[in-house]
Amino acid sequence: MNISFDFGGKTALVTGGASGIGHATALAFARAGAQVAVADIDEAGGRRTVADIRAAGGIADFFPVDVADEASVGTMVADVVARFGGLDFAHNNAGIEGDNVPAAEWSSANWRRIIDVDLSSVFYCLKAEIPVMLARGGGAIVNTASAAGLIGGFNLSVYLAAKHGVVGLTKGAAMDYANKGIRINALCPGPIDTPFIGQLPKPFRDRLIFGTPMDRLGAAEEMASAVLWLCSDAASYVTGHALAVDGGTVLGGIGTR
Ligand code: NAD
Repeated sequence: MNISFDFGGKTALVTGGASGIGHATALAFARAGAQVAVADIDEAGGRRTVADIRAAGGIADFFPVDVADEASVGTMVADVVARFGGLDFAHNNAGIEGDNVPAAEWSSANWRRIIDVDLSSVFYCLKAEIPVMLARGGGAIVNTASAAGLIGGFNLSVYLAAKHGVVGLTKGAAMDYANKGIRINALCPGPIDTPFIGQLPKPFRDRLIFGTPMDRLGAAEEMASAVLWLCSDAASYVTGHALAVDGGTVLGGIGTR
């Protein structure tokens, strides 16, 4: 792929930057010239991403965060602003999947955990990031939702609830700041080949591939391309959009092949 963006002089924050989609997005922002704040609960992994960026000549620092903790998110954003002088782009991406069981079998503890890490986290990030971007005159935010934020799925009910929530939160926030220079969109990945999917049992993984018209998992780099496009001026009239980048997964449909 030969598409390039010029984010020289800009600062990008990526949560979940230690692994998978966040790792790929952090590297892509750095390749485009941005200073990158890599944030994660996994300090060793986050520092590896920073090292990868620096080895390629980019600028990056690690910021520890538990995105399920509002105070921790506030500290992270304040530290990023102190280090880099502001914030232009944020990819609110950290997330977990939880159980794979029918709806009534999810424990209430797992309900709270998934809602905290996958949905409340995005709310906390928006609350901390938006004032900083307003002070700078604008910015762009991409929240990682999921194909599971657009359609149904077996044994994923709580995850589905959280990711549909991310899409709703994205749409509402996008409207509130559309005329204030901040665009807010959601990325809805299909099944992507990251440790997130790697942990799943093989039959489940195979079913995910079967449900994907392109007959393959996506690559983290394919998500990064979409995130950078959504943050770029090429998407200057795009806000509140939930962009499926999914090999056709959300098309669903009937018939046999
Ligand atoms: P991953 O497991 O490779 O990366 C997730 C990262 O989030 C990890 O580095 C992890 O340490 C971090 N994280 C988890 N909990 C955290 C917390 N409380 N605070 C801070 N960081 C935390 O997974 P991935 O596939 O790269 O997933 C990234 C996002 O994409 C998630 O929101 C996930 O729901 C979403 N997603 C993934 C897929 C897929 O198939 N891989 C599909 C749809 C959506």
